[in-house]
Amino acid sequence: MPQTPSEFDVAIAGAGIVGASVAWHLAGAGLRVAVIDAVGPASAASGASDGAVSVASKKPGPLARLASASLLYTRVLSQGGPLAGAFHPRPSYVFGQGEAELDAMDALIAKLGQVAGPVRVTADGGRDLLPGLGAGVERLVALDGEGHMPGHKAVRAYLARPGITGFWPAPIRAIDPDDRGVTLDLGTQKVRAGQLVLALGVSSPQLVPGLPVIPRAGQLFVTDRGPVDALPGSLTAAAYLLAKTEAPGRATLPPVVIDPLTTGQFLIGSSREDHADPNRVEFSVMRGLMARSVAAFPALAARRVIRAFAGVRAAVIDGLPIVGPLAGQPRITLATGFEGDGICLSAIIGAEVARMVRGLPPSDALAADLAVLSPLRFTTQPQEGRA
Ligand SMILES: Cc1cc2nc3c(=O)[nH]c(=O)nc-3n(C[C@H](O)[C@H](O)[C@H](O)COP(=O)(O)OP(=O)(O)OC[C@H]3O[C@@H](n4cnc5c(N)ncnc54)[C@H](O)[C@@H]3O)c2cc1C
Repeated sequence: MPQTPSEFDVAIAGAGIVGASVAWHLAGAGLRVAVIDAVGPASAASGASDGAVSVASKKPGPLARLASASLLYTRVLSQGGPLAGAFHPRPSYVFGQGEAELDAMDALIAKLGQVAGPVRVTADGGRDLLPGLGAGVERLVALDGEGHMPGHKAVRAYLARPGITGFWPAPIRAIDPDDRGVTLDLGTQKVRAGQLVLALGVSSPQLVPGLPVIPRAGQLFVTDRGPVDALPGSLTAAAYLLAKTEAPGRATLPPVVIDPLTTGQFLIGSSREDHADPNRVEFSVMRGLMARSVAAFPALAARRVIRAFAGVRAAVIDGLPIVGPLAGQPRITLATGFEGDGICLSAIIGAEVARMVRGLPPSDALAADLAVLSPLRFTTQPQEGRA
């Protein structure tokens, strides 16, 4: 006998940080929300990220402005809201060595001046600005206003909101839209909802064939526990800025980011490789990240590496996320392609996608920047029997 599908106002495909944030906002508006994940919460990029909530590392333009708005909103959500205990404000330091990195630091200061957001430069000088830095630091810029957020903590906090029903492990096999809603085939059961949000990260093209999302893997490692006070905030090589902007080829040194965690560990990442294998951890990449970390912050030489892992970012060919209704399918909203910025952008994107789903206009201040992210900029058309 055919099974009656479970009924919801909105179904969200993907329990990463983007889907979880959308779900939290929709449930807060009183809607019945299903969140469906092939594996479980934070099982893909959101659980394998550096976790920097950073404006400094964003491309100038829409991304930097949206990141600024998201950082401010993340702070609000962390003050007694779902992100309390997940988001940790801390200073951030960008260091450089060699001409290309020093140029990138100049560009960073100019960009932060243009964004005029919550992040400000507090110092610009040599390695003497921060005790304990090594010969691998030629110039240091100190910033105030950014923070760190482990993706898995934020995801679990968002999904704990009443009104959200989780389905996992439950890979979505097919999407069947009609005039009144969307039916999702999970294999052993069906879920029906008035609206669908696709927040599938790098897997998005599986359900929306032709979507120009490409994998960009990244490798990280974690040290043992010990004192981390000597480094009061993240220490990011300017090569990381180059890797995320228009001039990745100019970076000759590894794009290392060293983040002291509340656990007493250091999280150190992250490389960029053009493949989709989350299990590929390469010794040569690790060695490069480790050597640069120790050159920048020599106390790390005394720490042991206890775990190395990788994640896969969902990059888009034009370097911008894809957010908005799918062409020809007003009941399906896409939120994907956040590359290395999804932890940072998730708060504001969650709020704005929830507005779209509810038929509300975007927030005035963000409307122009969100319009740039519309999937309509590509010619992807839904295929029969699928979204
Ligand atoms: C190494 C690395 C470092 C990073 N550093 C930072 C950083 O410092 N700051 C920052 O802001 N961002 C960073 N990012 C990027 C950030 O992690 C991602 O942009 C963000 O996690 C994307 O979230 P998401 O919800 O879009 O996708 P994901 O977290 O990838 O979630 C997608 C979900 O969809 C599920 N799924 C897939 N297919 C199906 C299916 N058929 N049916 C059901 N479910 C399915 C998956 O299981 C997964 O849980 C980093 C990423 C990596 C890999």
